Amino acid sequence: MLKPMIHIVLFRNDLRLDHQPALQAALDARETHDQIVLLFHLNPSQFAPKTARHDYFFKTLNWFQTECQQIAPLHFIAGELSAAFTSLLATLGTNVTFYFNRQLSGERLRRDQQLIALLEDKQIPYQQFLDGHLHGVAEVKKADGSSYRVFTPYYRQWLALEKPSWHRIRCEQSCSPQYEGACFDEGRRVFAGLLTQLRAQQWDETIGVTAARQQLEQFIAGPLATYDYDRDFPARAGTSRMSPYLKYGVLSIVEVYRRVVTSEQRGQATYIKELAWRDFYQMIACENPTIQTEALTPQYRALEWEVNPAGFNAWCKGETGYPLVDAAMKQLNATGWMHNRLRMVVSSFLVKDLGIDWREGERYFAEKLIDYDRASNAGGWQWAASTGVDAVPYFRVFNPTVQSKRFDPDGAFIRRWLPELVLAKSKEIHEPQKYGLTYLAPIVDHQTARLAAIERFKRIKNKTDG
Ligand SMILES: Cc1cc2nc3c(=O)[nH]c(=O)nc-3n(C[C@H](O)[C@H](O)[C@H](O)COP(=O)(O)OP(=O)(O)OC[C@H]3O[C@@H](n4cnc5c(N)ncnc54)[C@H](O)[C@@H]3O)c2cc1C
Repeated sequence: MLKPMIHIVLFRNDLRLDHQPALQAALDARETHDQIVLLFHLNPSQFAPKTARHDYFFKTLNWFQTECQQIAPLHFIAGELSAAFTSLLATLGTNVTFYFNRQLSGERLRRDQQLIALLEDKQIPYQQFLDGHLHGVAEVKKADGSSYRVFTPYYRQWLALEKPSWHRIRCEQSCSPQYEGACFDEGRRVFAGLLTQLRAQQWDETIGVTAARQQLEQFIAGPLATYDYDRDFPARAGTSRMSPYLKYGVLSIVEVYRRVVTSEQRGQATYIKELAWRDFYQMIACENPTIQTEALTPQYRALEWEVNPAGFNAWCKGETGYPLVDAAMKQLNATGWMHNRLRMVVSSFLVKDLGIDWREGERYFAEKLIDYDRASNAGGWQWAASTGVDAVPYFRVFNPTVQSKRFDPDGAFIRRWLPELVLAKSKEIHEPQKYGLTYLAPIVDHQTARLAAIERFKRIKNKTDG
């Protein structure tokens, strides 16, 4: 009799059972006596304890472990990649096939390449799939095969392409017979240890697919209709809050896209355009591996930034004296999430008003955001810093007070996060110092800072253009 094959499904940032291309392929490939192993590799070099995203990720993984019981246990292996997989294969033998969804850029891609090299070396078959994005890097290209650097033409082509269809995996389909073995004991122990270190968080109740679907349906039934307009006002529940779920793959991007399209709500076209920005930045990150560390516009690599630890510290804590900036940073520090309009306002403030290197802000967001995504975050920071592709022009400097009056007109968002201003009138709340209210003095004068920021860019342009 032939030895049964073991199909190993390796999960990473795709923690779901529905529309999971790698899992689906393994289930489709299995013969009657074959075994399925659902696997997660715990790599200590990836742990970032005490950051919000670490807690969010491992709480999500813990929830997913329970979810997996519907079909098979989720097993863990732990340790440095090559040692962990070599040891696993030494136990399971070579009659195995690996299934995983491809990682597209950064450190994750490097680890995928390492794993693939190891599997090929041992002649172990594997299958990879596109997941996490509606269109991969290679799908949206100019006629001459080169990549877009401007969003609008990219988007036009992106929109015209057929989108993947969505299907639910049959959850009653149990993966028996299942593989059980002592090779997973160490991983189980490491995972249990990790769980004990996680801290209680505001968003604990929002973990997992049930909460994610509830949130999506609420958004579609209500805010989506007015998304075009409301999405810019941080005091309103005007956006979908899908970003952490998309980040860890709790919901498939295809499911989100299909639900929004079939809703036929006003607002859907604008919403889908935001999903295209996500693919666009992913494409840019793949094409530019140094997106986190190097200006995408070569001319701006020589920009000279201010060394201003006190300013940076005040920005981080939400103590700049500009109420909207401060309220936004307090939202980030307390919840691990920040509204998109505010991400634009605070990033612009750090880079243009304080003259601080965008990379410092990028790193701070990486530490604090539960939806931290390397491509969207670095793309967003480079947009704000005017160093990126299709970025805000360097001479268009956001005025934090004007932004405050326009997007939080009655100060409802500011009052939520700055109790000291709860009694301020709507007219006063955007610049309380002007009305003699007790609030921190602004750490910088915006008008002076604006001119200095423009000057900083002009100096470089004069040097390199001339
Ligand atoms: C400086 C800066 C840093 C950012 N860092 C991140 C990050 O680390 N992770 C992240 O997911 N988004 C990031 N964004 C993009 C955006 O702010 C968030 O995606 C959005 O606020 C998430 O909230 P939501 O799900 O309610 O958005 P919605 O308005 O409901 O949008 C739906 C989805 O579209 C995608 N999306 C929306 N806007 C953008 C955008 N500008 N760029 C890329 N994708 C977008 C997101 O996946 C989002 O969940 C950043 C933006 C800026 C300006």
